[in-house]
Amino acid sequence: MKVPFFNYKKLYQKDKNLVDKAYKDVMNRGAFILQDDLEEFEKKLAKYSGSKYALGVANGTDALWLVLSAIGLNQSDEILIPSHTYIATPAAVKFLGLKPILVDCNKDHLMSIKDSACKLTKKTKVIMPVQLNGRTMNMDRLMEFANMEDLIVIEDAAQGIGSRYKKQMSGTFGLAGTYSFYPAKTLGCFGDGGIIVTNNGELYQKLYEMRDHGRSQDGNYNRWGLNSRLDNLQAAILLAKLELLDKEINRRREIAKMYNDNLLKTKEVILPPGPKANDIHYDTYQNYEVECENRDKLKKYLLDRGVSTIIQWGGQAIHQIAALNFEVHLPLTDNLFQKCLLLPMNTTLSDDEVYYIIESIQEFYK
Ligand SMILES: *Cc1c(COP(=O)(O)O)cnc(C)c1O
Repeated sequence: MKVPFFNYKKLYQKDKNLVDKAYKDVMNRGAFILQDDLEEFEKKLAKYSGSKYALGVANGTDALWLVLSAIGLNQSDEILIPSHTYIATPAAVKFLGLKPILVDCNKDHLMSIKDSACKLTKKTKVIMPVQLNGRTMNMDRLMEFANMEDLIVIEDAAQGIGSRYKKQMSGTFGLAGTYSFYPAKTLGCFGDGGIIVTNNGELYQKLYEMRDHGRSQDGNYNRWGLNSRLDNLQAAILLAKLELLDKEINRRREIAKMYNDNLLKTKEVILPPGPKANDIHYDTYQNYEVECENRDKLKKYLLDRGVSTIIQWGGQAIHQIAALNFEVHLPLTDNLFQKCLLLPMNTTLSDDEVYYIIESIQEFYK
């Protein structure tokens, strides 16, 4: 059996009828930029997330960059970010001339509030929790910390769509949150795409103008802006796929349950919390990140048996990338990156494939 880590071809085949219908409809109308489909998708996504406003942009990285840029920070301001994140998070900070301050992780692989407190200075202005792997972190603690220290909260929920903490969706706790529609994300399009959600009308209006050359709804140029629009074609596809999102998430949770039920006894592998672990977190399993003994040997063993796995971010947390010159010691993240592994997790997987992966892991540790 061959189980790729992600099957991009199946992504289209799986929803072919739906996607073809949306595609043809947009093509026949010649509706490509800032059209009704985008507006409708924004409205539906806002409602789905429980936010007042949603604004489609070119990708998840731009979403972060635009929000940070819109809130008007000073060049020496410091932004707290977990080191276990995609390079897009600190890059958005860096390219605004701001200073990303990297923070260690917790046992659940998400940002440590304890370490965030250690990294505070007079210049700390923003904290950016990253809702990694489809899990929303303990937002009671995060919001309490942010309020106490007077920090603006911007959530990188690129991986968090649909995931909840105490019934509230990832991305909706702070001033603004962002999602990515990269094809492999829980809600993916067939190219690049992203969205910003917020309840702040003033911020929404500013961002609305910034993503389209500073233009407002009436066509006036109110400020400098750039081109970071979400294509209407992608928006139409996303609008159609949004209807399937809860079903997609259920399937991810089903796969997580299979891994959880069958690998719990394999003590060499530490699993993420199962889908029914508690009532506080509703996890969507954008990724299934385990910690395992003899990680590199297991990875090779699985590959020999046709199963592809990956180590997140090409094997390095942000502070470990030499070229970026971060001089910070993050022991928990360092430790995690010696053991972490992403098992295949997506809705193109069959039950047989999941059981094959499980059996192969059991076999390895026998
Ligand atoms: C995917 C991702 C992004 C960036 O999204 P793009 O749409 O690829 O720009 C940012 N942060 C995290 C944690 C991500 O996983």
